[in-house]
Amino acid sequence: MTTTPHDDTATANLARTFADYAPSIEGRDIVAIRPRYGLMIDGEERDARDGAVFSTIEPANGEHIAEVAEGAAADVDDAVAAARRAYETVWRDMPGRTRAKYLFRMARLLQDRSREFAVLETIDGGKPIRESRDVDVPLAAAHLFYHAGWADKLEYAVPGMTGRPIGVVGQITPWNFPLLMVAWKIAPALACGNTVVLKPAETTPLTALLLAELAAEAGLPPGVLNVVTGAGATGAALAAHPGVDKVAFTGSTEVGKAIRRATAERGTRLTLELGGKGAHVVFDDAALDQAVEGIVDGIFFNQGHVCCAGSRLLVQEGIADELLDRLRRRIELLRVGDPLDKNTDVGAINSHAQLERIRGFVDEARDDGAQVHQSTRALPGKGFYFPPTIVTGLGGSEAICREEVFGPVLAVQTFRTEAEAVARANATRYGLSAGVWTEKGSRILWMSQRLRAGVVWANSFNRFDPASPFGGLRESGFGREGGRQGLQEYLTLSPVTA
Ligand code: NAD
Repeated sequence: MTTTPHDDTATANLARTFADYAPSIEGRDIVAIRPRYGLMIDGEERDARDGAVFSTIEPANGEHIAEVAEGAAADVDDAVAAARRAYETVWRDMPGRTRAKYLFRMARLLQDRSREFAVLETIDGGKPIRESRDVDVPLAAAHLFYHAGWADKLEYAVPGMTGRPIGVVGQITPWNFPLLMVAWKIAPALACGNTVVLKPAETTPLTALLLAELAAEAGLPPGVLNVVTGAGATGAALAAHPGVDKVAFTGSTEVGKAIRRATAERGTRLTLELGGKGAHVVFDDAALDQAVEGIVDGIFFNQGHVCCAGSRLLVQEGIADELLDRLRRRIELLRVGDPLDKNTDVGAINSHAQLERIRGFVDEARDDGAQVHQSTRALPGKGFYFPPTIVTGLGGSEAICREEVFGPVLAVQTFRTEAEAVARANATRYGLSAGVWTEKGSRILWMSQRLRAGVVWANSFNRFDPASPFGGLRESGFGREGGRQGLQEYLTLSPVTA
């Protein structure tokens, strides 16, 4: 739109734009954080049986936020028993249209309380408020809406098959998208008639607990959604519990393998959404401005704590210098700082342990002779922060090219031919995501058939939609979340017979 000084609408729009960019810290007082949180079992909040608690820390300043109950095996037993009762007495046989009402209500309540959820997510996890507000919370609500819509149409979900619920589902989630990963998991499980015992990540338990509170507000019957907070031991007790009919896990490949072994013992159904080492492949005909924005979003969004992050950049030799030059200039513009400031682009690293892990990868690459380029902007004096980082001079065998760093660190390599690009992109034990940047449609098709990744984006990155199935290949896991494929993971299917 062209603007003139006499155009009132345009002036109003401009004013809004400037207001949006004015420094502003989103108010913490929007959310009432309690000093102590309990487990949510059978519709009631209660302490762990042995009274154990752990502390959740604010990554932006390293300070204690609240004490949270640490569930042990006995608490998992209670939660599974509650989920079983609710399954058999209420939820399994409830008409789908009635189950849908609860999910729709939860989705609407989440929208109503979106600012509160966004602020709490940012305080507990360290991600920029702009992302919590514009991505995490709206997408979480979208998943609830999408699956609510399926609850009374499940007979059409899988052509030729009829589906019934599986039973009690144990769900274990990571810290990088605490609320969103919970929504991805509970929405299809509940829509399909299963009941849930959820174990959120120990560094970010607060929005899952708030969501359980919201579920109670929506009238969800007691025992349908139970939350047992705690760390790895709590998750392990849930994954190995004989009363759990299916486990859905999102987290690291190493823990995923342990869960696979535990569930194999009992033949429990399982889906695994694990780590990744996604590659952006940029050809010399790509629209470079667009590619730069996609690469920046692909690795610096959510501090690079993204399973499908484009953590490797494979760039065709002829444009490597120019693209790197643009990227170096672009990262100087990224504001790293207070996650509650709505102008922040890169927030705090989720925990001190994760910060040390990221630092370890970068130091090792530097010691091995790689070139490390970092943004020169000052970092806050307190809290867990790491500057946007680009590493070049890599051969491909270095840990930084092979392992999931899970931080704002881009590992760069070059290639000459399409075949070399495919070989390099696929030289990983993971298989979650990839991006292709080129103006040639035929090349996009050729590449996407050969890249071993569960999702391949073309001239874009990090695009999500509840209707689109997401999941990995190889050591990135198996099973899909989202879309009709995601529903199948929560149904026992049998052929329709006349
Ligand atoms: P993590 O594996 O350390 O922990 C994930 C969850 O598992 C946490 O709730 C944790 O308490 C629990 N856990 C830990 N040990 C356990 C055990 N032995 N048995 C059962 N549960 C256990 O992962 P993280 O550090 O929280 O999350 C980051 C990882 O998650 C990354 O590898 C990332 O790629 C992956 N991730 C994958 C996806 C996906 O969709 N593929 C999405 C988000 C994150």
